[in-house]
Amino acid sequence: MVLSAGEISFIREADRWAVSEVSNQSTGYCPDISSWPEVARALDELELGRPSGFTHEVVFRRCPDCHEQNIVREDDFVCVFCGSDLPAVWNMDPTA
Ligand SMILES: [Zn+2]
Repeated sequence: MVLSAGEISFIREADRWAVSEVSNQSTGYCPDISSWPEVARALDELELGRPSGFTHEVVFRRCPDCHEQNIVREDDFVCVFCGSDLPAVWNMDPTA
């Protein structure tokens, strides 16, 4: 089970490595931004310094009508492919 996915970059601090940027930008897994606590827990287990949340958030939704994968921009929950309304709740779970 994949709990989150995305891109991450690191910087060297005085005496340890830390996360400088982290996002949920994975067009393969399309994780919800609510997956941050799982990311934070994994980083904390590795004792890596980290930000308090995703430094770049991507809102993924699947269109209920044409089934295309959308990235929601500026809170505009409209399918860019067919113009249908996109759901407010994350719906990218491949097992659902
Ligand atoms: Zn659509």
